Amino acid sequence: MEQGASYFGVRDLRHVEADLDRFADEGLNAILHTYSERDQKFYEGTMADIVAASNDRGFTTYVNPWGVGKVFGGEALSQFLGKNPGERQQLTTGSREHAACFNSPTFREFMREWTRSAVELDPDMLFWDEPHWILPDWFDDDEPDDAWVCRCEHCKRRYRERHDAPMPVTEDETVRRFREDSLLEFLNEQMAIAHDHGVENAVCLVPESDADHGIANWERLAEDEYIDLISTDPYWGLFAGDDVDGFVREAVERVTDLASAYDLRSQIWVQGFGLSDEPSTYENIRKVTREAAEGGVDSTFMWGYDGCRSISSIASENPDRVWETYVDALPGASY
Ligand SMILES: [Zn+2]
Repeated sequence: MEQGASYFGVRDLRHVEADLDRFADEGLNAILHTYSERDQKFYEGTMADIVAASNDRGFTTYVNPWGVGKVFGGEALSQFLGKNPGERQQLTTGSREHAACFNSPTFREFMREWTRSAVELDPDMLFWDEPHWILPDWFDDDEPDDAWVCRCEHCKRRYRERHDAPMPVTEDETVRRFREDSLLEFLNEQMAIAHDHGVENAVCLVPESDADHGIANWERLAEDEYIDLISTDPYWGLFAGDDVDGFVREAVERVTDLASAYDLRSQIWVQGFGLSDEPSTYENIRKVTREAAEGGVDSTFMWGYDGCRSISSIASENPDRVWETYVDALPGASY
C-alpha cells in the first residue's frame, strides 16, 4: 500500500534530502510536495530538484496547486488575485470574493501555465486538492444569507451559451448544476494536460457532499476520462461530530466503492494538524490509519509531515506524537 505525507515549507535541497531519508526509514513510500504560486514563480528549479530527489529514493511523488487562486486548499497566498481583482468570484450582491472564478479565461490560462510547470517537475501524480467555489459566509458576515457565487460576467456569458437564457438572480437547481459543470470542466481541462505528459491525476474532495462547494455528485468526477485516483480527507476534528467511526467508515467506503466502480485507485487522508494533546487524538489517528488499510484503500497520507509542526497556525499541540502515532499505525511500519 502507498503510505505518505504532505511536505512543505523547506526549499533547501540538503534539508529536504535529510527529511526524505528519515521518512523512508519511518516506512513512507510516497510524498506530496506543495507547489504554490510562490514556488512556481521563485522556486521552479529548486522544486524540480526536490521532486527528483524524491523520485531517486523510490517515492511515489505528488505535486499539488497549494492555494493557487485560492480555489484549492492550502496555507499559501495568491498573487493572481492581487494582480487580477476583476477575475475573482462575484457574489450576487456584486461584491468580489477571495478566490478566482473557474470560468475566467485569464485564470484558466494562468492555471494551464501552473499545470504545465507542475508536470515539468516530473512527479508521478498531480493532486487536485479540494477544488471549490467559495461560500459567502466564509468571508462576509454582512452578506445576505441567500447570496451565492458566481455571477461574474464570464459565468453569466457561459450560462447564457449553455442554457439560452439569462442566469437567474435566485439560486436554483440549474445554477447549482452549472456550478458543478463549470468545476468539472475546469478540472478536465487541467487533468488533460497532465495526462498528455504521462502524469496521473488524483482529485481530493472534502467528505461533505455539498453542491455549494462545487461537486455534489462524485460519480460525475469519477467518470472523467483523465482521473486516476479518487481521494477524500475525513478530518474528524473539523467535520465528524461525535461519530468518528461512522464518519471515517463512510469516507473509506465512498472512495473504495467509486474506485472499484470506475477502475480508479482510492486514497484517504489522515488529519495531522490542529489536534489537541489528548488520548482521543492518538486513538483517532490509529483508528483512521488502520481503517483505511483494512478497508482496502490503495493509498493513505497524513496532512502533514511531522504533525504540521512547522506551521504554527495549524500545528498540533504535540506534533511529534501525532507523527509517531501515524507512522506507527501504518501497515508494515518499520518500527
Ligand atoms: Zn464567475
